[in-house]
Amino acid sequence: MNSLDELRFDNRFARLGDVFSTPVLPDPIAAPRLVVASPEALALLDLDPAQAGQPLFAELFSGHKLWSEAEPRAMVYSGHQFGAYNPRLGDGRGLLLGEVVNARGEHWDLHLKGAGETPYSRMGDGRAVLRSTIREFLASEALHALGIPTSRAACVIGSDTPVYRERKETAAMLLRLAPSHVRFGHFEYFYYTQQHDHLKTLAEHVLHSHFPACAEQPKPYLALFREVVERTAALIARWQAYGFCHGVMNTDNMSILGITFDYGPYAFLDTFDAQYVCNHSDDGGRYSFSNQVPIAHWNLAALAQALTPLIDVDDLRAAMDLFLPFYQAEYLDLMRRRLGLTALREDDEALVQRLLRLMQGSAVDYNLFFRRLGEQAPADALQGLRDDFVDLAGFDAWGADYLERCVPEDPPQRRARMHAVNPLYLLRNYLAQQAIEAAERGDYQDVRHLHQVLARPFDEQPGEARYAEPPPDWGRHLEISCSS
Ligand code: AMP
Ligand code: MG
Repeated sequence: MNSLDELRFDNRFARLGDVFSTPVLPDPIAAPRLVVASPEALALLDLDPAQAGQPLFAELFSGHKLWSEAEPRAMVYSGHQFGAYNPRLGDGRGLLLGEVVNARGEHWDLHLKGAGETPYSRMGDGRAVLRSTIREFLASEALHALGIPTSRAACVIGSDTPVYRERKETAAMLLRLAPSHVRFGHFEYFYYTQQHDHLKTLAEHVLHSHFPACAEQPKPYLALFREVVERTAALIARWQAYGFCHGVMNTDNMSILGITFDYGPYAFLDTFDAQYVCNHSDDGGRYSFSNQVPIAHWNLAALAQALTPLIDVDDLRAAMDLFLPFYQAEYLDLMRRRLGLTALREDDEALVQRLLRLMQGSAVDYNLFFRRLGEQAPADALQGLRDDFVDLAGFDAWGADYLERCVPEDPPQRRARMHAVNPLYLLRNYLAQQAIEAAERGDYQDVRHLHQVLARPFDEQPGEARYAEPPPDWGRHLEISCSS
Protein backbone atom coordinates (compact mmCIF):
# COMPACT_ATOMS: atom_id res chain seq x y z
CA MET A 1 0.00 0.00 0.00
CA ASN A 2 1.21 3.45 -0.91
CA SER A 3 0.96 6.74 0.86
CA LEU A 4 -0.23 9.83 -1.00
CA ASP A 5 3.25 11.00 -1.95
CA GLU A 6 4.18 7.64 -3.48
CA LEU A 7 1.77 7.70 -6.44
CA ARG A 8 3.49 7.06 -9.76
CA PHE A 9 2.22 9.01 -12.77
CA ASP A 10 2.39 8.24 -16.48
CA ASN A 11 0.32 10.89 -18.26
CA ARG A 12 -0.28 9.37 -21.67
CA PHE A 13 -3.22 11.58 -22.62
CA ALA A 14 -1.39 14.75 -21.61
CA ARG A 15 1.45 13.73 -23.91
CA LEU A 16 -0.91 13.88 -26.90
CA GLY A 17 -0.50 17.63 -26.56
CA ASP A 18 -2.48 20.84 -26.56
CA VAL A 19 -4.73 19.91 -29.48
CA PHE A 20 -6.42 17.36 -27.21
CA SER A 21 -6.43 19.18 -23.88
CA THR A 22 -5.48 22.49 -22.29
CA PRO A 23 -3.31 22.87 -19.17
CA VAL A 24 -5.37 24.43 -16.35
CA LEU A 25 -4.61 24.53 -12.63
CA PRO A 26 -7.36 23.54 -10.16
CA ASP A 27 -8.98 26.46 -8.38
CA PRO A 28 -9.11 25.50 -4.69
CA ILE A 29 -12.27 25.49 -2.58
CA ALA A 30 -12.31 26.99 0.93
CA ALA A 31 -11.96 25.00 4.17
CA PRO A 32 -11.80 21.58 2.50
CA ARG A 33 -12.90 18.52 4.46
CA LEU A 34 -13.47 14.89 3.72
CA VAL A 35 -17.12 14.02 3.23
CA VAL A 36 -16.70 10.40 2.19
CA ALA A 37 -14.07 8.13 0.66
CA SER A 38 -14.24 4.70 -0.94
CA PRO A 39 -11.58 2.31 0.37
CA GLU A 40 -12.22 -0.02 -2.59
CA ALA A 41 -11.63 2.79 -5.10
CA LEU A 42 -8.53 4.02 -3.25
CA ALA A 43 -7.19 0.48 -3.43
CA LEU A 44 -7.13 0.83 -7.23
CA LEU A 45 -4.39 3.42 -6.66
CA ASP A 46 -2.74 1.14 -4.07
CA LEU A 47 -3.68 3.77 -1.48
CA ASP A 48 -4.16 2.72 2.10
CA PRO A 49 -7.73 3.78 3.13
CA ALA A 50 -6.24 5.41 6.25
CA GLN A 51 -4.75 8.03 3.91
CA ALA A 52 -8.21 9.54 3.51
CA GLY A 53 -7.99 10.78 7.11
CA GLN A 54 -4.77 12.73 6.48
CA PRO A 55 -5.05 16.53 6.09
CA LEU A 56 -2.97 16.17 2.90
CA PHE A 57 -5.73 14.05 1.35
CA ALA A 58 -8.36 16.82 1.53
CA GLU A 59 -5.75 19.35 0.36
CA LEU A 60 -4.84 17.32 -2.72
CA PHE A 61 -8.41 16.66 -3.79
CA SER A 62 -9.67 20.19 -3.24
CA GLY A 63 -7.12 21.90 -5.46
CA HIS A 64 -4.85 23.24 -2.68
CA LYS A 65 -1.89 20.97 -3.42
CA LEU A 66 -0.68 19.05 -6.41
CA TRP A 67 1.90 16.35 -7.06
CA SER A 68 4.85 17.60 -9.11
CA GLU A 69 4.19 14.76 -11.61
CA ALA A 70 0.54 15.70 -12.10
CA GLU A 71 -0.33 17.59 -15.31
CA PRO A 72 -3.86 18.93 -14.84
CA ARG A 73 -5.64 19.41 -18.13
CA ALA A 74 -9.10 20.14 -19.46
CA MET A 75 -10.02 17.82 -22.34
CA VAL A 76 -11.79 19.09 -25.45
CA TYR A 77 -14.78 17.23 -26.88
CA SER A 78 -18.15 17.93 -28.45
CA GLY A 79 -21.25 15.80 -28.76
CA HIS A 80 -24.92 15.36 -29.46
CA GLN A 81 -27.06 16.71 -26.64
CA PHE A 82 -30.70 15.61 -26.78
CA GLY A 83 -30.17 14.78 -30.45
CA ALA A 84 -28.67 18.14 -31.50
CA TYR A 85 -24.99 18.56 -32.25
CA ASN A 86 -23.11 20.90 -29.92
CA PRO A 87 -19.78 21.70 -31.60
CA ARG A 88 -17.84 22.58 -28.49
CA LEU A 89 -18.15 21.09 -25.03
CA GLY A 90 -15.10 19.86 -23.14
CA ASP A 91 -14.20 19.66 -19.46
CA GLY A 92 -16.00 22.75 -18.19
CA ARG A 93 -15.62 21.95 -14.53
CA GLY A 94 -13.35 18.95 -14.26
CA LEU A 95 -9.65 18.35 -14.81
CA LEU A 96 -7.68 15.29 -15.70
CA LEU A 97 -4.93 15.53 -13.06
CA GLY A 98 -2.92 12.71 -14.57
CA GLU A 99 -2.74 8.94 -14.91
CA VAL A 100 -1.60 6.90 -11.92
CA VAL A 101 -0.01 3.51 -12.57
CA ASN A 102 -0.68 0.92 -9.86
CA ALA A 103 1.38 -2.11 -8.87
CA ARG A 104 -0.57 -4.26 -11.36
CA GLY A 105 0.50 -1.91 -14.15
CA GLU A 106 -3.02 -0.50 -14.62
CA HIS A 107 -3.42 3.18 -15.53
CA TRP A 108 -6.12 5.08 -13.65
CA ASP A 109 -7.17 8.59 -14.67
CA LEU A 110 -7.47 10.95 -11.72
CA HIS A 111 -10.23 13.35 -12.70
CA LEU A 112 -11.11 16.13 -10.28
CA LYS A 113 -14.70 17.22 -10.84
CA GLY A 114 -15.65 20.73 -9.70
CA ALA A 115 -12.08 22.06 -10.02
CA GLY A 116 -13.02 25.52 -11.34
CA GLU A 117 -13.32 27.34 -14.64
CA THR A 118 -11.61 26.12 -17.80
CA PRO A 119 -11.63 27.35 -21.43
CA TYR A 120 -14.65 25.03 -21.87
CA SER A 121 -16.76 26.40 -19.02
CA ARG A 122 -18.97 28.47 -21.38
CA MET A 123 -21.51 30.15 -19.06
CA GLY A 124 -20.78 27.85 -16.10
CA ASP A 125 -18.82 28.56 -12.93
CA GLY A 126 -16.66 25.44 -13.10
CA ARG A 127 -18.06 24.16 -9.84
CA ALA A 128 -19.96 21.13 -8.65
CA VAL A 129 -22.27 21.30 -5.65
CA LEU A 130 -22.06 18.97 -2.65
CA ARG A 131 -25.42 17.40 -3.62
CA SER A 132 -24.30 16.33 -7.10
CA THR A 133 -20.87 15.07 -6.04
CA ILE A 134 -22.48 12.89 -3.35
CA ARG A 135 -24.95 11.57 -5.90
CA GLU A 136 -22.14 10.67 -8.32
CA PHE A 137 -20.05 9.16 -5.53
CA LEU A 138 -22.85 6.94 -4.23
CA ALA A 139 -23.96 5.81 -7.69
CA SER A 140 -20.46 5.03 -8.98
CA GLU A 141 -19.67 2.81 -6.06
CA ALA A 142 -23.16 1.26 -5.87
CA LEU A 143 -23.21 0.34 -9.58
CA HIS A 144 -19.77 -1.15 -9.28
CA ALA A 145 -20.94 -3.30 -6.37
CA LEU A 146 -23.87 -4.49 -8.50
CA GLY A 147 -21.45 -5.61 -11.20
CA ILE A 148 -22.35 -2.80 -13.60
CA PRO A 149 -19.29 -1.32 -15.37
CA THR A 150 -18.77 2.28 -14.26
CA SER A 151 -16.28 5.02 -13.56
CA ARG A 152 -15.31 4.92 -9.88
CA ALA A 153 -15.39 7.56 -7.18
CA ALA A 154 -12.53 7.80 -4.69
CA CYS A 155 -13.80 10.64 -2.51
CA VAL A 156 -15.89 13.76 -2.07
CA ILE A 157 -14.32 16.84 -0.49
CA GLY A 158 -16.74 19.45 0.84
CA SER A 159 -16.06 23.15 1.41
CA ASP A 160 -17.37 26.54 2.52
CA THR A 161 -17.16 28.02 -0.99
CA PRO A 162 -20.62 29.30 -1.95
CA VAL A 163 -22.16 28.22 -5.26
CA TYR A 164 -25.38 29.61 -6.66
CA ARG A 165 -27.90 27.29 -8.34
CA GLU A 166 -31.67 27.49 -7.72
CA ARG A 167 -30.51 28.29 -4.19
CA LYS A 168 -27.23 29.03 -2.47
CA GLU A 169 -25.24 25.82 -2.00
CA THR A 170 -21.62 24.91 -1.29
CA ALA A 171 -18.96 23.68 -3.71
CA ALA A 172 -17.45 20.24 -3.48
CA MET A 173 -14.99 18.20 -5.51
CA LEU A 174 -15.23 14.56 -6.52
CA LEU A 175 -12.22 12.47 -7.42
CA ARG A 176 -13.34 10.26 -10.29
CA LEU A 177 -11.28 7.29 -11.44
CA ALA A 178 -11.52 5.54 -14.78
CA PRO A 179 -9.03 3.85 -17.07
CA SER A 180 -9.93 6.54 -19.63
CA HIS A 181 -12.07 9.68 -19.83
CA VAL A 182 -12.37 9.54 -23.61
CA ARG A 183 -16.00 9.88 -24.70
CA PHE A 184 -17.80 9.32 -28.01
CA GLY A 185 -17.81 13.14 -28.18
CA HIS A 186 -13.99 13.26 -28.37
CA PHE A 187 -14.13 11.53 -31.76
CA GLU A 188 -17.04 13.72 -32.88
CA TYR A 189 -15.04 16.86 -32.10
CA PHE A 190 -12.13 15.91 -34.37
CA TYR A 191 -14.46 14.60 -37.08
CA TYR A 192 -16.71 17.66 -37.30
CA THR A 193 -13.79 20.10 -37.13
CA GLN A 194 -12.27 18.09 -40.00
CA GLN A 195 -9.05 17.44 -38.11
CA HIS A 196 -8.80 13.90 -39.42
CA ASP A 197 -5.10 13.50 -38.62
CA HIS A 198 -5.88 14.22 -35.00
CA LEU A 199 -8.87 11.88 -35.19
CA LYS A 200 -6.42 9.18 -36.17
CA THR A 201 -4.02 10.10 -33.35
CA LEU A 202 -6.92 9.81 -30.89
CA ALA A 203 -7.95 6.43 -32.29
CA GLU A 204 -4.34 5.20 -32.05
CA HIS A 205 -4.14 6.37 -28.46
CA VAL A 206 -7.37 4.62 -27.49
CA LEU A 207 -6.42 1.48 -29.40
CA HIS A 208 -2.98 1.06 -27.90
CA SER A 209 -3.77 2.28 -24.38
CA HIS A 210 -7.14 0.62 -23.87
CA PHE A 211 -7.84 -2.00 -26.54
CA PRO A 212 -4.46 -3.64 -27.17
CA ALA A 213 -6.07 -6.87 -28.41
CA CYS A 214 -7.85 -4.93 -31.19
CA ALA A 215 -4.53 -3.48 -32.31
CA GLU A 216 -3.49 -7.05 -33.28
CA GLN A 217 -6.51 -7.56 -35.56
CA PRO A 218 -6.30 -7.24 -39.39
CA LYS A 219 -8.56 -4.14 -39.22
CA PRO A 220 -7.66 -2.57 -35.87
CA TYR A 221 -10.04 0.42 -36.01
CA LEU A 222 -12.94 -1.77 -37.02
CA ALA A 223 -12.10 -4.22 -34.23
CA LEU A 224 -12.07 -1.29 -31.82
CA PHE A 225 -15.48 -0.05 -32.96
CA ARG A 226 -16.95 -3.55 -32.80
CA GLU A 227 -15.64 -3.89 -29.25
CA VAL A 228 -17.24 -0.54 -28.28
CA VAL A 229 -20.54 -1.76 -29.76
CA GLU A 230 -20.36 -4.97 -27.75
CA ARG A 231 -19.34 -3.31 -24.50
CA THR A 232 -22.05 -0.67 -24.85
CA ALA A 233 -24.66 -3.34 -25.53
CA ALA A 234 -23.50 -5.29 -22.47
CA LEU A 235 -23.65 -2.14 -20.35
CA ILE A 236 -27.17 -1.19 -21.43
CA ALA A 237 -28.31 -4.78 -20.84
CA ARG A 238 -27.19 -4.38 -17.23
CA TRP A 239 -28.92 -1.01 -16.84
CA GLN A 240 -32.17 -2.49 -18.18
CA ALA A 241 -31.94 -5.65 -16.11
CA TYR A 242 -31.38 -3.72 -12.87
CA GLY A 243 -33.73 -0.83 -13.65
CA PHE A 244 -31.08 1.89 -13.86
CA CYS A 245 -32.01 5.09 -15.72
CA HIS A 246 -29.03 7.24 -16.64
CA GLY A 247 -31.06 10.32 -17.53
CA VAL A 248 -28.66 12.17 -19.87
CA MET A 249 -27.39 9.81 -22.56
CA ASN A 250 -25.80 12.55 -24.66
CA THR A 251 -22.84 11.35 -26.72
CA ASP A 252 -20.48 13.42 -24.55
CA ASN A 253 -21.60 11.30 -21.60
CA MET A 254 -20.86 7.99 -23.36
CA SER A 255 -17.54 6.42 -22.42
CA ILE A 256 -15.47 4.81 -25.16
CA LEU A 257 -14.84 2.02 -22.63
CA GLY A 258 -18.53 1.13 -22.38
CA ILE A 259 -18.75 2.06 -18.72
CA THR A 260 -21.44 4.12 -16.96
CA PHE A 261 -20.22 7.69 -17.08
CA ASP A 262 -21.19 11.21 -15.99
CA TYR A 263 -23.90 10.76 -13.41
CA GLY A 264 -26.59 13.42 -13.42
CA PRO A 265 -30.29 13.01 -12.65
CA TYR A 266 -30.11 9.18 -12.66
CA ALA A 267 -32.53 6.89 -10.82
CA PHE A 268 -33.20 3.25 -10.15
CA LEU A 269 -36.77 2.21 -10.88
CA ASP A 270 -38.88 1.68 -7.78
CA THR A 271 -42.01 0.20 -9.37
CA PHE A 272 -41.56 -0.85 -12.99
CA ASP A 273 -42.36 1.83 -15.55
CA ALA A 274 -41.00 1.40 -19.06
CA GLN A 275 -41.74 5.07 -19.82
CA TYR A 276 -40.08 6.41 -16.70
CA VAL A 277 -38.13 9.67 -17.23
CA CYS A 278 -35.84 10.55 -14.33
CA ASN A 279 -34.54 13.86 -15.72
CA HIS A 280 -37.10 16.59 -15.23
CA SER A 281 -35.55 18.66 -18.05
CA ASP A 282 -36.23 15.80 -20.51
CA ASP A 283 -39.65 16.98 -21.65
CA GLY A 284 -39.86 14.70 -24.68
CA GLY A 285 -38.80 11.61 -22.74
CA ARG A 286 -35.90 11.03 -25.11
CA TYR A 287 -33.96 9.32 -22.33
CA SER A 288 -36.84 7.37 -20.81
CA PHE A 289 -36.03 3.97 -19.31
CA SER A 290 -37.04 1.88 -22.33
CA ASN A 291 -35.51 4.36 -24.79
CA GLN A 292 -32.05 3.68 -23.38
CA VAL A 293 -31.69 0.74 -25.76
CA PRO A 294 -32.45 2.55 -29.06
CA ILE A 295 -30.62 5.66 -27.79
CA ALA A 296 -27.45 3.64 -27.16
CA HIS A 297 -27.73 2.40 -30.75
CA TRP A 298 -28.28 5.99 -31.95
CA ASN A 299 -25.21 7.14 -30.00
CA LEU A 300 -23.12 4.35 -31.53
CA ALA A 301 -24.29 5.53 -34.95
CA ALA A 302 -23.04 9.04 -34.06
CA LEU A 303 -19.69 7.52 -33.12
CA ALA A 304 -19.66 5.47 -36.33
CA GLN A 305 -20.23 8.65 -38.35
CA ALA A 306 -17.22 10.23 -36.64
CA LEU A 307 -15.12 7.19 -37.53
CA THR A 308 -15.95 7.22 -41.25
CA PRO A 309 -12.54 8.72 -42.16
CA LEU A 310 -10.91 5.65 -40.57
CA ILE A 311 -13.30 2.75 -41.22
CA ASP A 312 -15.15 1.57 -44.32
CA VAL A 313 -18.86 2.47 -44.13
CA ASP A 314 -20.09 -1.05 -44.90
CA ASP A 315 -17.90 -2.41 -42.11
CA LEU A 316 -19.31 0.18 -39.73
CA ARG A 317 -22.87 -0.77 -40.72
CA ALA A 318 -22.17 -4.46 -40.17
CA ALA A 319 -20.72 -3.69 -36.72
CA MET A 320 -23.77 -1.56 -35.84
CA ASP A 321 -25.99 -4.52 -36.70
CA LEU A 322 -24.35 -6.51 -33.90
CA PHE A 323 -25.75 -4.19 -31.26
CA LEU A 324 -29.29 -5.47 -30.93
CA PRO A 325 -28.61 -9.23 -31.01
CA PHE A 326 -25.77 -8.77 -28.56
CA TYR A 327 -27.91 -6.62 -26.27
CA GLN A 328 -30.76 -9.12 -26.35
CA ALA A 329 -28.55 -12.08 -25.57
CA GLU A 330 -26.91 -10.29 -22.64
CA TYR A 331 -30.19 -8.96 -21.31
CA LEU A 332 -31.92 -12.34 -21.47
CA ASP A 333 -28.99 -14.01 -19.80
CA LEU A 334 -29.17 -11.55 -16.91
CA MET A 335 -32.95 -11.79 -16.59
CA ARG A 336 -32.82 -15.59 -16.65
CA ARG A 337 -30.37 -15.49 -13.78
CA ARG A 338 -32.51 -12.95 -11.92
CA LEU A 339 -35.44 -15.37 -12.28
CA GLY A 340 -33.35 -18.29 -11.08
CA LEU A 341 -33.54 -20.12 -14.42
CA THR A 342 -30.48 -22.02 -15.50
CA ALA A 343 -31.44 -23.64 -18.78
CA LEU A 344 -31.98 -21.61 -21.91
CA ARG A 345 -35.35 -21.82 -23.67
CA GLU A 346 -36.80 -20.27 -26.76
CA ASP A 347 -39.78 -18.67 -25.02
CA ASP A 348 -37.64 -17.01 -22.30
CA GLU A 349 -37.99 -13.62 -23.91
CA ALA A 350 -41.77 -13.91 -23.91
CA LEU A 351 -41.71 -14.98 -20.25
CA VAL A 352 -39.69 -11.88 -19.31
CA GLN A 353 -41.78 -9.51 -21.44
CA ARG A 354 -45.02 -10.85 -19.99
CA LEU A 355 -43.71 -10.28 -16.47
CA LEU A 356 -42.71 -6.70 -17.26
CA ARG A 357 -46.14 -5.99 -18.75
CA LEU A 358 -47.76 -7.30 -15.57
CA MET A 359 -45.42 -5.18 -13.45
CA GLN A 360 -46.21 -2.01 -15.41
CA GLY A 361 -48.78 -0.12 -13.36
CA SER A 362 -48.61 -2.60 -10.47
CA ALA A 363 -47.44 -1.85 -6.94
CA VAL A 364 -44.62 -4.36 -6.93
CA ASP A 365 -41.11 -3.05 -6.33
CA TYR A 366 -39.08 -3.96 -9.41
CA ASN A 367 -35.84 -5.10 -7.78
CA LEU A 368 -37.35 -6.50 -4.59
CA PHE A 369 -39.64 -8.71 -6.70
CA PHE A 370 -36.64 -10.78 -7.80
CA ARG A 371 -35.17 -10.87 -4.30
CA ARG A 372 -38.43 -12.09 -2.84
CA LEU A 373 -38.88 -14.60 -5.65
CA GLY A 374 -35.61 -16.20 -4.54
CA GLU A 375 -36.37 -16.05 -0.84
CA GLN A 376 -38.74 -19.02 -0.82
CA ALA A 377 -39.56 -22.06 -2.93
CA PRO A 378 -41.06 -20.82 -6.21
CA ALA A 379 -44.75 -21.65 -5.48
CA ASP A 380 -44.64 -20.02 -2.03
CA ALA A 381 -42.77 -17.00 -3.33
CA LEU A 382 -45.33 -16.45 -6.09
CA GLN A 383 -48.16 -16.68 -3.56
CA GLY A 384 -46.50 -14.00 -1.43
CA LEU A 385 -45.93 -11.69 -4.38
CA ARG A 386 -49.28 -11.90 -6.16
CA ASP A 387 -51.11 -9.33 -4.01
CA ASP A 388 -48.96 -6.50 -5.39
CA PHE A 389 -50.18 -7.14 -8.94
CA VAL A 390 -53.27 -5.56 -10.46
CA ASP A 391 -53.96 -8.26 -13.03
CA LEU A 392 -54.17 -11.22 -10.65
CA ALA A 393 -55.39 -13.68 -13.28
CA GLY A 394 -52.56 -12.59 -15.58
CA PHE A 395 -50.02 -12.99 -12.80
CA ASP A 396 -51.35 -16.44 -11.86
CA ALA A 397 -51.07 -17.53 -15.47
CA TRP A 398 -47.53 -16.20 -15.62
CA GLY A 399 -46.75 -17.92 -12.30
CA ALA A 400 -48.01 -21.26 -13.62
CA ASP A 401 -45.73 -20.97 -16.65
CA TYR A 402 -42.84 -19.89 -14.45
CA LEU A 403 -43.35 -22.86 -12.11
CA GLU A 404 -43.45 -25.22 -15.03
CA ARG A 405 -40.26 -23.57 -16.27
CA CYS A 406 -38.39 -23.91 -12.95
CA VAL A 407 -36.36 -27.05 -13.34
CA PRO A 408 -36.57 -29.05 -10.12
CA GLU A 409 -33.55 -27.99 -8.15
CA ASP A 410 -32.21 -28.04 -4.65
CA PRO A 411 -34.02 -25.05 -3.02
CA PRO A 412 -31.14 -23.66 -0.87
CA GLN A 413 -28.96 -23.57 -3.96
CA ARG A 414 -31.66 -21.70 -5.85
CA ARG A 415 -31.89 -19.12 -3.09
CA ALA A 416 -28.13 -18.55 -2.90
CA ARG A 417 -27.84 -18.38 -6.66
CA MET A 418 -30.68 -15.88 -6.99
CA HIS A 419 -29.58 -13.74 -4.03
CA ALA A 420 -26.14 -13.47 -5.61
CA VAL A 421 -27.64 -11.56 -8.55
CA ASN A 422 -30.67 -9.91 -6.91
CA PRO A 423 -29.74 -7.00 -4.63
CA LEU A 424 -31.49 -6.38 -1.35
CA TYR A 425 -30.15 -2.81 -1.09
CA LEU A 426 -30.59 -0.28 -3.90
CA LEU A 427 -29.51 3.33 -4.20
CA ARG A 428 -32.98 4.82 -4.16
CA ASN A 429 -33.22 8.53 -4.78
CA TYR A 430 -34.92 9.20 -1.47
CA LEU A 431 -32.09 7.46 0.42
CA ALA A 432 -29.54 9.58 -1.41
CA GLN A 433 -31.68 12.64 -0.72
CA GLN A 434 -31.82 12.00 3.04
CA ALA A 435 -28.06 11.47 3.17
CA ILE A 436 -27.48 14.65 1.15
CA GLU A 437 -29.69 16.75 3.42
CA ALA A 438 -27.73 15.54 6.46
CA ALA A 439 -24.43 16.26 4.68
CA GLU A 440 -25.62 19.76 3.83
CA ARG A 441 -26.08 20.28 7.57
CA GLY A 442 -22.49 19.08 8.10
CA ASP A 443 -23.32 15.53 9.18
CA TYR A 444 -21.56 13.02 6.91
CA GLN A 445 -22.46 9.84 8.81
CA ASP A 446 -25.49 9.02 6.64
CA VAL A 447 -23.57 9.29 3.39
CA ARG A 448 -20.75 7.15 4.74
CA HIS A 449 -23.15 4.57 6.11
CA LEU A 450 -25.25 4.39 2.95
CA HIS A 451 -22.07 3.93 0.92
CA GLN A 452 -21.02 1.03 3.17
CA VAL A 453 -24.39 -0.71 2.94
CA LEU A 454 -24.49 -0.35 -0.84
CA ALA A 455 -20.96 -1.73 -1.17
CA ARG A 456 -22.47 -5.18 -0.39
CA PRO A 457 -25.91 -5.01 -2.00
CA PHE A 458 -26.45 -8.77 -2.21
CA ASP A 459 -25.56 -9.63 1.42
CA GLU A 460 -28.22 -9.32 4.07
CA GLN A 461 -26.71 -6.98 6.66
CA PRO A 462 -27.98 -7.13 10.26
CA GLY A 463 -29.61 -3.93 11.46
CA GLU A 464 -29.91 -2.42 7.97
CA ALA A 465 -33.51 -3.39 7.21
CA ARG A 466 -34.52 0.22 6.64
CA TYR A 467 -32.30 0.35 3.55
CA ALA A 468 -34.07 -2.69 2.10
CA GLU A 469 -37.55 -1.16 2.23
CA PRO A 470 -39.40 0.05 -0.83
CA PRO A 471 -39.62 3.86 -0.76
CA PRO A 472 -42.24 5.66 1.33
CA ASP A 473 -44.90 7.50 -0.69
CA TRP A 474 -43.07 10.83 -0.57
CA GLY A 475 -39.89 9.19 -1.82
CA ARG A 476 -41.29 7.69 -5.03
CA HIS A 477 -40.22 9.06 -8.38
CA LEU A 478 -38.41 12.10 -7.05
CA GLU A 479 -37.50 14.35 -9.95
CA ILE A 480 -33.92 15.44 -10.08
CA SER A 481 -32.82 18.58 -11.89
CA CYS A 482 -29.79 18.87 -14.13
CA SER A 483 -28.42 22.02 -12.43
CA SER A 484 -25.59 20.35 -10.61
P1 AMP B 1 -23.00 17.54 -18.00
O1 AMP B 1 -24.45 17.89 -18.14
O2 AMP B 1 -22.52 17.52 -16.58
O3 AMP B 1 -22.63 16.31 -18.74
O4 AMP B 1 -22.21 18.74 -18.67
C1 AMP B 1 -22.33 19.12 -20.02
C2 AMP B 1 -21.26 20.15 -20.34
O5 AMP B 1 -21.43 21.32 -19.54
C3 AMP B 1 -19.84 19.68 -20.08
O6 AMP B 1 -19.01 20.26 -21.05
C4 AMP B 1 -19.55 20.23 -18.71
O7 AMP B 1 -18.17 20.38 -18.48
C5 AMP B 1 -20.27 21.57 -18.75
N1 AMP B 1 -20.69 22.01 -17.41
C6 AMP B 1 -21.66 21.50 -16.62
N2 AMP B 1 -21.76 22.18 -15.48
C7 AMP B 1 -20.83 23.16 -15.51
C8 AMP B 1 -20.44 24.21 -14.63
N3 AMP B 1 -21.02 24.40 -13.45
N4 AMP B 1 -19.43 25.02 -15.02
C9 AMP B 1 -18.85 24.85 -16.21
N5 AMP B 1 -19.16 23.91 -17.09
C10 AMP B 1 -20.15 23.05 -16.76
MG1 MG C 1 -21.13 15.35 -19.19
